[in-house]
Amino acid sequence: MSCLFGPVPSRRYGRSLGIDLVPMKTCCYDCVFCQLGITPQTTCARRDYLPIESVLSDLKQWLTLHEPVDILTLCGSGEPTLHAHFGDVLRWIRAETPYPSLLMSNGALFFEPEVRRDAALADRVKISMHFWDETSFRATVRPHADLTFEKVYDGWLKFRENFHGTVDIEFFAVPGMNDAPEALNRIHRLMSPLRPDTVTVNSAERPPAESSVRSVPVSELNQLRAFFGTVAVAQTATASTAPQPYSEAALLALARRHPLTPAQFARYFGMPESQIVAALQRLATADPYAARALLPHDVSR
Ligand code: SF4
Repeated sequence: MSCLFGPVPSRRYGRSLGIDLVPMKTCCYDCVFCQLGITPQTTCARRDYLPIESVLSDLKQWLTLHEPVDILTLCGSGEPTLHAHFGDVLRWIRAETPYPSLLMSNGALFFEPEVRRDAALADRVKISMHFWDETSFRATVRPHADLTFEKVYDGWLKFRENFHGTVDIEFFAVPGMNDAPEALNRIHRLMSPLRPDTVTVNSAERPPAESSVRSVPVSELNQLRAFFGTVAVAQTATASTAPQPYSEAALLALARRHPLTPAQFARYFGMPESQIVAALQRLATADPYAARALLPHDVSR
């Protein structure tokens, strides 16, 4: 199976080709709100989860299609910096394509010098900051035992010292965990030395790992955005895409790595929603990610 998926129309980044470097679900965190579900076993082991030759071969083949995109994004089934050669992918994008690259990372491994060196090959880096101390770190992202708040935050500071590309910070609001005024003030203060170019504020839209995680009402979300001074990333002209060719494999690839609602899948493939629902129902018996796509989503935001 190819490690590529999409292109996905992203509100923030335009038309984004996803490059998925790890098997579902490989992560050093087990975030309570993760839209991919629970992490069965957190890991900090950096390995060639997929042979780098096959990743680059998929990309070379894709390039011959001359498919218009706005950005190439390392993301998908977990944490991309766990792949020992994610830097080779960023290097290849820079050398062989006209497109910018985006590393969507939780940033947990930036304490390792090689990870910082390779992450700096991206044009944009998105890191996640939903906590302000050790207790809130453990509560929100349930990290691998080798990770501490201090280690992770110090890695981000070191990275920012030498990275001159764009830094996006994502704050995921979890009601009752990180949305009290004191918590928000502390998170805001910690973001400041990282000089983020944008701060995006999200809350649960898709079924989270823990069903107890509630979504934040739109009015409160807007207040949070104003508080963090969120800079919206302009949607590019190509972000609204022509329908993509439909196949069950394409539907499943997207459902696993970039969960959408049946209505959003229908728009993506240019098909009636009823056909998408029927396909997801068929696939749901064998694939939990197809089943998750049928759960109620909160798309009000
Ligand atoms: S939200 Fe991201 S960092 Fe958190 S568990 Fe899911 S994949 Fe890992």
